[in-house]
Amino acid sequence: MLKKSKMNTDSNCTNMGDEEVKVHKIEIPTPYKVGDVNAFLVKGEALTIFDVGPKTQEAYGAIEQGLKTAGYTWQDVEQVVLTHHHPDHAGWTDAFPHAEIMGHEYNDLWLKHDEDFLTYHEDFYRQNLFESGLPGGIIEKSIQVRREMAWVGSQPLTKIINDGDEIPGHPGLKAIETLGHARSHFIFYDEASHEVIGGDLLLEKITPNPLIEPPLKQGEPRAKSQLEYNASLEILRALPVSTMYTGHGANLTNIIPLIDARKVRLHDQALALYEMMTKTEEITPLEATKRMYPRVYEHQFGLTLSKTVGLLDYLESLHKVTTFKRGGIIHYIRIT
Ligand SMILES: [Zn+2]
Ligand SMILES: [Zn+2]
Repeated sequence: MLKKSKMNTDSNCTNMGDEEVKVHKIEIPTPYKVGDVNAFLVKGEALTIFDVGPKTQEAYGAIEQGLKTAGYTWQDVEQVVLTHHHPDHAGWTDAFPHAEIMGHEYNDLWLKHDEDFLTYHEDFYRQNLFESGLPGGIIEKSIQVRREMAWVGSQPLTKIINDGDEIPGHPGLKAIETLGHARSHFIFYDEASHEVIGGDLLLEKITPNPLIEPPLKQGEPRAKSQLEYNASLEILRALPVSTMYTGHGANLTNIIPLIDARKVRLHDQALALYEMMTKTEEITPLEATKRMYPRVYEHQFGLTLSKTVGLLDYLESLHKVTTFKRGGIIHYIRIT
């Protein structure tokens, strides 16, 4: 039996839509620097949890406690919906014995731990790092596709969600594809209450990294993640959001100033990189990363490279730089 009354009195519990629909926040520890990740238990016509932490024992304990506080057990949850495939969000898909597991098509490939998919990733990064100007000797140790796979769930999706789909059991709660931070990213927007479950699209204190990822279909060009992310922020901006339930940190109620601040910061960072390039020099993504993040690039190479490539893609979109390949290596040069 569903124990609605207990959810109603919980301090972590707020309304979504009409009085009967409740959102219960569960804070889950992660092994990452970002700290806790938030899952949201939503009781509508179905009991659904959005995101399920990393697959660690600490996270399992936190989810179990969160379910208990809301008056439920693992068995009661009818649906697991994933905002995106990152290990801090898509871990415990295995732990809900009766739940449908739902998410983006791209998410499913991670949950399947598919050998061909992982190899395809490694090949893509090998090529991408070479094109970025990395010396051959350090390319292999920079490829870390499998390092975090132990924290990713191994129960694949039972239902694929597409852009615009309504979440079963939650009339008016629509999935909106919002790529950029991940190639599997959705937010879930409630048309009645204007509340949104936002994953990592917009966070209180952190700017999500526009991660470089291989395209879903082999042979397609690399997606420009930063530009996709900017477009996703514009999708969010156009919605009359009342409350945004975010993947990390506090709920957001006034998102427009935060979106604006993020855009200004991106623009300033991109111009700072532009100013670091002299008028005639040709620089590789690796060299640009070293200049932009001289102190941290060696320790956080993947993250700083993707951020820098994002800035370069953005500058290219403003027609401030252009790109060409020499010897298979990408170079950027200022236009003005
Ligand atoms: Zn993420
Ligand atoms: Zn996250």
